[in-house]
Amino acid sequence: MQNLYSFKQLLSEPQKVVITTHHKPDADALGSSLGLANYLKIKGHDVTVISPTDYPNFLAWMKGNSDVIVFENNEQERAKELVEKANIIFCLDFSGLHRINELGELVRESKAKKVLIDHHLEPEDFAEFVLWSTEAAATAELVHQLINDLGDGDLIDKDIAEALYAGIMTDTGSFKHPNTTKNVFLVCSDLIDKGADTAKVAKLIYDTNSVNRVKFLGYALNEKLKILPEYNTAYFAITADELKQFNSQTGDTEGLVNYALSIKGIKLAAVIIDRTVAVKMSFRSVGDFSVNEFARKNFEGGGHKNAAGGISYETLDATVEKFEKLLKENKEELKSNHELHV
Ligand code: 5GP
Ligand code: MN
Repeated sequence: MQNLYSFKQLLSEPQKVVITTHHKPDADALGSSLGLANYLKIKGHDVTVISPTDYPNFLAWMKGNSDVIVFENNEQERAKELVEKANIIFCLDFSGLHRINELGELVRESKAKKVLIDHHLEPEDFAEFVLWSTEAAATAELVHQLINDLGDGDLIDKDIAEALYAGIMTDTGSFKHPNTTKNVFLVCSDLIDKGADTAKVAKLIYDTNSVNRVKFLGYALNEKLKILPEYNTAYFAITADELKQFNSQTGDTEGLVNYALSIKGIKLAAVIIDRTVAVKMSFRSVGDFSVNEFARKNFEGGGHKNAAGGISYETLDATVEKFEKLLKENKEELKSNHELHV
């Protein structure tokens, strides 16, 4: 952060703080938010985390979860009031205010000082204080850096450490993605020093599935996986009825896209889901194909080079058709020297 000294000055007195994060928070979004919230509370600030929407149950163990305000759950008035009264608003793990839905305009209009902490591409210019780096694997890694830059590393306790660890573990794909740098391991080593129980966090996030979720995965793998060898692409298209059939809950489809990406030779993987109000898409790539650009150009989305999301207001079938047409247009980029054997 360039103006760290004035940021530190700002935090030298108790402030009314709001922390917000992106639509359908994942472990990094919620973990970095609650990790930061718990640190700021220790420092004597009045802190509220506001999420635009609900989030998966497998994140509910994080300290401070029960105090999170979920904007869409009839908590708009309370959220509005908090945003209006805040002196500082932190925006974590997203780079554009449209990512927090209606909350975005409230945050934009608020007189509070805004702080952006993020690792997504192409950040919007709306914040007075910015800690942004695409080198960071997770926003949680940046929150760890910020706390240390403020000279407060010693205040990181077990709860903060576990929330931050969760964000780093998931955003690196459990330390598998190319963003798993030396710094990631240094930060995680420090978080373990501060008490993080890494096996417990992994269990809570990855191994607390409902039977329905596991059966849905089996169904999707057996019936729904479509492989297009000529484009080195694999994807799932899931209907609203199928979600209903397996009583799918928020977060139940998270990770599905990785099964498509795990196939040898696949360069582009997608999950296309009819969420009724809109069709949501998750894209993943291996190597040079930028799903950030692909999602930005074609599906009002974005994210990172190898992991991005997007949205479509057409039907599921029309969206799939558009997606397949785009593959044809990107054939040169998606082609590989190695034939994919299926
Ligand atoms: P996921 O596929 O797991 O939902 O998201 C992958 C990455 O892309 C995450 O970093 C997420 O924040 C980002 N992302 C997902 N959906 C969108 C979107 O609609 N717009 C933008 N700009 N980023 C998104
Ligand atoms: Mn993240």
